[in-house]
Amino acid sequence: MSAGPVIPPGGTIGVLGGGQLGRMFAQAATRLGYRVHVYEPQTDCPAGAVAHQEVNAPYEDTAALTAFARECDVVTYEFENVPSAPLQAIEAVTPLRPHWSVLATTQNRSREKRWLRDNKFPHARFAEVAADGDLAAGIREVGVPCVVKTADFGYDGKGQLKVMAEADVLAALQRFSGQPVVIEQFVDFACEVSAVVARSQSAAVRVFPLAENIHTNHILDFSIVPARVPAEVLAQAEKLARLIAEKIDLVGVMGVELFVTKDGAVLVNELAPRTHNSGHYTIDACMTSQFEQQVRAICGLPLGAVTLLSPVVMVNILGDAWHWSDGKVVAEPKWADLLAQPNVRLHLYGKAEPRPGRKMGHFTVTARDADMALELARKYQARL
Ligand code: AMP
Repeated sequence: MSAGPVIPPGGTIGVLGGGQLGRMFAQAATRLGYRVHVYEPQTDCPAGAVAHQEVNAPYEDTAALTAFARECDVVTYEFENVPSAPLQAIEAVTPLRPHWSVLATTQNRSREKRWLRDNKFPHARFAEVAADGDLAAGIREVGVPCVVKTADFGYDGKGQLKVMAEADVLAALQRFSGQPVVIEQFVDFACEVSAVVARSQSAAVRVFPLAENIHTNHILDFSIVPARVPAEVLAQAEKLARLIAEKIDLVGVMGVELFVTKDGAVLVNELAPRTHNSGHYTIDACMTSQFEQQVRAICGLPLGAVTLLSPVVMVNILGDAWHWSDGKVVAEPKWADLLAQPNVRLHLYGKAEPRPGRKMGHFTVTARDADMALELARKYQARL
């Protein structure tokens, strides 16, 4: 793809999606002197609260999307479940970064897996089953244990089921029959890691330090940086992230989720063509944050240095951290205790209503090494 126009500070950036990723993007963009317009179906969104303008309309409303794009010098997205077809209407008016085709490939698990296979990136063995296909045959082909995932609209473990024994097959058939799915071999991984990679219009590539991720109930709980993995794993993960960004012709930022197997192999799990939850640590512990990097990449500016300034652990704050009784919130988390710690930075997303499993904010803990940061992070999390 040819290099697009440079959009200097003062320009207007449009963001599709008004969640916390859009909010932190808007904060980074406004710091660099840009104007930010947010497009989000729901009113009073976290990003809209810190942007110059918030447009509320459905993603399928091509006329509203076109009018929104006309007001912007470049449009990006913070959410991959934006239907990709209407986005072509945006590209007809204003540059969309990353390009529409990157979103189309990565938002559907079947297309994403096929892309990884066709481009020879290491991944777990998989089979695809169409809506009218034979799910049982697909499970037999991959073998048990496996993970059945809906092809569309999956994130944070939503729309997936682990089939660990023959006895689980029936549950999978009941839940997924009639839906297009991907069935993946279950990876008995040693750990999960992720790399946030940025690629600019001039094809410069930077990969942020690898994060080691611990999930609880399928949702990211802790990101630990530096990842406590061998140097060869670090090098392989960085190489994969860089090659993927180049091959997919990324202009912007992408989260690359990886499994590290017990024998040290690195497999690609998932790609997200946007900033990533595991990259939030970069705001407090890197020279350039992933959000500023997204601004730089899509506006044709030089990419920033990705130097890690301190070992760090990021902790997600879910609605579960509120104090609940009989399904009602009875008390807020103890913010003052957290803010009293000299090595903690707190980020709250301004969401009015906490709900179990809902991402409400995060905090980072810096320390002299990753183990110490994790120990403190667990302690502060338990005290919330
Ligand atoms: P995903 O939504 O595909 O990122 O999956 C959410 C989480 O489920 C991952 O972070 C893993 O912890 C787990 N998971 C997903 N796919 C597999 C797999 N093939 N083998 C083992 N665990 C998996």
